[in-house]
Amino acid sequence: MQSSQILAAIDCARDLISSFQLAPGPVDVIALARKQGVSAVEPAEMSADGYLARTRDGALVIRYRATNNRSRNRFTIAHEIAHLIFAQVQGQELDQPRIGRLSDPQEETAVNRIAAELLMPAKFILNELGERERRGELPNWKIINALRQTYQVSASAMAFRMLELPSLRAISMRISIDGHAPQFPFDRSENSAIRLVNGVEFEMERLWRDARKSTRHIVGVKAGGTTFSIPCEGLVKSMTTKLGPARHYWVIGWLTDGRNEAAAGKPNQSLVGK
Ligand SMILES: [Zn+2]
Repeated sequence: MQSSQILAAIDCARDLISSFQLAPGPVDVIALARKQGVSAVEPAEMSADGYLARTRDGALVIRYRATNNRSRNRFTIAHEIAHLIFAQVQGQELDQPRIGRLSDPQEETAVNRIAAELLMPAKFILNELGERERRGELPNWKIINALRQTYQVSASAMAFRMLELPSLRAISMRISIDGHAPQFPFDRSENSAIRLVNGVEFEMERLWRDARKSTRHIVGVKAGGTTFSIPCEGLVKSMTTKLGPARHYWVIGWLTDGRNEAAAGKPNQSLVGK
């Protein structure tokens, strides 16, 4: 598996969704699966989230866990469609009885990234963010929650999507309050060279301390020799991780095409100095 194949599959998913989804709103994942040649999408009793299989008569079927919630099942169905897209890009035959059963974690990560492209179309989300910015709204969790409702995905999925949108410069910091700490507490826009001016640990301590006064934050970052500041908002979130329950103070923010930079103000000295 090469990163060029992942990029090609992401492009392929973006093209597919732009011809399939013509207006903002939840993507009809079942119709999308049919368009990709899947003959049935059905709930089943299983311990896994779902799988893609070929029946004895050769038909492609997606099955998903009946007891999972709706937004999770939507993600599962998109994930299985993404397996199909990825396999096509790699020129693989899809004749195994159960495709993706033995797939490795790296492939699963790639497939989730492709699925996000299908479920949360970049074009519509960027339009919405631009519109809200013109109305004077700074990045906040209310926007993430409105978008997650529009596209019927989880809030976490939508928050991470901010890091994947082209033309957005976004950061995410998850500060562990109790329970299990996140594996990667700091994330930034993919393929970007964004760094925190003050380093991750310093910023996390500062943000959590400042959160007593306000959950609105300004975070100084560096990219390509330029220093700028990203307006962010933090929110305490309870979540279930693979290792168990956890609470994080999750700070997220972004710059669209630089216009909300002015609204956020310049990074102050205490932030940039040192
Ligand atoms: Zn998979």
